[in-house]
Amino acid sequence: MRQVQEGIAYGAMSPMDVMRSLGVTRAGLSSADVAARQKEGGKNVLPKPPGRRAWRVFAQQFRGAMMMVLLVAFIVANVVGHMDDALLILCVIALHACLGFFQEYRADRAFEKLAAYLPRRAQVLRDGVPTDVAAADVVVGDVLLLDAGYHVVADARVLTATALEVNEAALTGESVAVAKQMNYELQITNHEGTRSTMLYAGTSVAAGRATAIVTAIGSHTEFGKIAALTTTVENDRTPLEAQLAVFSRQLAIVILCVVGIVGVFGVARGIPFVDMLVLGIALAVAAIPEGLLVTLTVTLALGMQRIARKRAVVRTLVAAETLGSVTVLCVDKTGTLTTGEMTVTKLATGEASEKEKVKSEKRLIDALAMVNAARDVQRDSHEYVTGSMTEKAIHAFLKEKIWRDEENRDEEQRSMIGELPFSSANKFSARAFRDGDGGRIVAMGAPEVLLGRADCTDAERGMLMSKIEQMSGRGLRVLMVVEKSEKRKEKSTLEETDIVDMHVVGLVGLEDAVRVDVPEMVRVAKAAGIRAVMVTGDHPRTARAVATSIGLVADNDAVMTGVEVTRLNDVALAAQVARVNVFARISPADKLRIVRALQHNGEVVAMTGDGVNDAPALRAADVGIAVGSGTDVAKEAADIVLLDNGFATIIAAVREGRGLFDNIRKVVVYLMASSGSELVLMLAAIALGLPLPLLPIHILWINILSD
Ligand code: ADP
Ligand code: MG
Repeated sequence: MRQVQEGIAYGAMSPMDVMRSLGVTRAGLSSADVAARQKEGGKNVLPKPPGRRAWRVFAQQFRGAMMMVLLVAFIVANVVGHMDDALLILCVIALHACLGFFQEYRADRAFEKLAAYLPRRAQVLRDGVPTDVAAADVVVGDVLLLDAGYHVVADARVLTATALEVNEAALTGESVAVAKQMNYELQITNHEGTRSTMLYAGTSVAAGRATAIVTAIGSHTEFGKIAALTTTVENDRTPLEAQLAVFSRQLAIVILCVVGIVGVFGVARGIPFVDMLVLGIALAVAAIPEGLLVTLTVTLALGMQRIARKRAVVRTLVAAETLGSVTVLCVDKTGTLTTGEMTVTKLATGEASEKEKVKSEKRLIDALAMVNAARDVQRDSHEYVTGSMTEKAIHAFLKEKIWRDEENRDEEQRSMIGELPFSSANKFSARAFRDGDGGRIVAMGAPEVLLGRADCTDAERGMLMSKIEQMSGRGLRVLMVVEKSEKRKEKSTLEETDIVDMHVVGLVGLEDAVRVDVPEMVRVAKAAGIRAVMVTGDHPRTARAVATSIGLVADNDAVMTGVEVTRLNDVALAAQVARVNVFARISPADKLRIVRALQHNGEVVAMTGDGVNDAPALRAADVGIAVGSGTDVAKEAADIVLLDNGFATIIAAVREGRGLFDNIRKVVVYLMASSGSELVLMLAAIALGLPLPLLPIHILWINILSD
C-alpha cells in the first residue's frame, strides 16, 4: 500500500522535486551511489515463480487419457487376479512415468537455457554518460533513456518527453497506446492525472522518446505487485501441446472402441471373458502411443536448442516446426541482406562553383549534426553508439568531419525545443532548436517525402530528382536534409505540420555493402524451394540495385512501391505478390498486407522486422522473425529472434527447422506404426479364428522393450 501511494505521489510531484527527493542530479547516479543503492534495494527482478518442482513434474506424468487407460487396466488386472499381468502393467506405468519425467526435465532445462540467450537490457544515465546495463541492475533513482519500441524496465517518473506514447496493455489490458508527458494536467488528487506522468514496468514505449527517473524496482513496481498475486498460474500449454493432447484423447477413444470390438469377437468365439478382458487391456496398452506427447516436446525443445546454436532463438515450440515448412521468406534489405554498417560516401549540394560548394557542404554537415539522433553510450568500459544503423553511420561521419571542440555541442547547448523521432511510417526525422528570437527546424529523411514538403522551384526539383535517381541507382541509400528558420515565440513543440516550406540543404549518400554470403544463400534458398522477397523502406532504385546484385531479381523484373501497394485492393495485391520479389518504400502497414496477401495465395510466410510498427506483421506471419538489432517490441511479437541479423542465419534456421519437421514426422509414424501393427495382428488373428499370435504378457513385454 505504501508503494502505491508513493507512486501516485511521485506522479504528482514536479520532475525537479522527484529528483531531489531521490537524491539524483541531472547527470544521473554516480557509480558509487549505484553500488550503495544496489546493496540496499537489491536487484530489479521479480521473485521467480516457484519453478516446477520435481515431484510435480512426476505427478503430471499421470495426467492424460493414455495414463488413465493404463491405470484402469492395472486395477482390472488386479481385480480379476491376473497378478503377473498386473505387475507388467505396473512396470509399463513406472517406465512411462520415469521416461516422461526425465524427458520433461530435460526439456525444461533446455527452455531455461534458451531464455538466457535473450537477456533484458536498459539504457540509463550514469556519471553523466548514457550507459547500457542489464535490466536487473537498474536501481531507484536511475535515469532511464527510452526510445520507441523499448521496454520500460521499472516504474519511473517522466523527466522529459517528446511525442511520448506508451503501450500499457501488459498492465491494463488496454491495447491503445496512451500519451505520457512531463507535466500532469489534472488535479493532483486525481489518480488518472498523475498516471500520465508515470511509466510502469512491463509496458513499452510505442512512439517518441523520453527520459524518466526510476521510482520503484522489482516486486515494488505496479507490475511486480500484480505478478505477486498471480504466481500460482499454471504453465500455459503451447498450441502444439494442446493439439497433441486432443489428438491423444481421440486416439485413446478409437483404440478402446477397437479393443471393445475385439473383445466381443473373442467372447463370441468362446474365449473366456476374463482372458479376453486381460487380452483387451494388453492390446490397449500396446496400441496407445503413450510416449507421443512427451517425445514430441523433447524433440522440439532439443531442436530449438540446435537452432539456437545457429544463432536464432525460437520463442515458441510450434515456430520451430513451422519454420521447416516456410515457402516465402520476406526479408529487410538493410542489415539483413546488407551488412548495415553504412558509410557516408557522398554529399551533394546544388552549388556549381567550387567555393560555393565548400560553403554549402559545411552547411549540410552542420544541419546533419543538429538533426542526427545517434548518441555515444558506455557499456562495460567501452563506448558504442545508439541509434539506427543509418544514424550511426552519420554519427561516425560527423565525428570524423567535425573538429573536437565543436563535437560536444549536445542537445542542451543547442537548446533543442522539439523533436520528431524517425518512424518508418513517416520516413523522416526532425528537430527544432531555439535560435535567437526565433527557431530553426532541421529535418532529414527519404528525399521524395521531404521534397513534397520543400519550397523549391520546378527546375530545382528536376535537378534534385535526377541527382537522387543517379545516387540510388548505384545502390546508395539517399537522405535529404532540409531546414528553415521561423519565428516561434510561444511554441515549444514540433509537429508534423511544421515540416512545410523547407529549404533543401543537400543530399547524403550512404553505402551499405551486401553481405558476402548472401548471393550464395539466395541460391541455396531457391534450390530448397523457398522464395526470398525483399521488403524495404528504402528507395525503389536502391532496392533494385541491391536485389539485382544478389541475384534476387533480373534486370527487367518489376519492383513495387508502397504507393502502388496502397492503391491495390486485396485481390489485386494477392495477384501481384505472386510474382513481385522486391517491394520498396514500404511502410509497416504495407508489410502486414503483403503477409496477408501471400498467405491468401497459400504460402507459409516468414517475415523479418525490427521496428515497433512491425509487430502486427510479425504476428500475422506464420513465422515472425525479429532481427538482433530490433526493438524489444518486435522481439516480443516474433516467433524467432536472431542473435545477429544475417540472411544466412535465417536460412540456417529454416534448414534446421526442416530437419526437425522430418524428425517429428518420423517419431509420429514410428510410434503409430509399432502400436498399430500389434493391434492389426491381433485383430486379424481373432477375426480369422487363428490361435492368438501373442499372449497378453508378450504384448506388454514388447511394449516395455520398444520404449
Ligand atoms: P529499411 O527497410 O531500409 O530499414 P527504413 O524504413 O528504415 O527502411 O527507412 C526508409 C527510409 O527512411 C530510408 O531510405 C531513408 O531515406 C529514411 N531514413 C532511414 N533512417 C532514417 C533516420 N534515422 N532519420 C531520417 N531518415 C531516415
Ligand atoms: Mg530500418
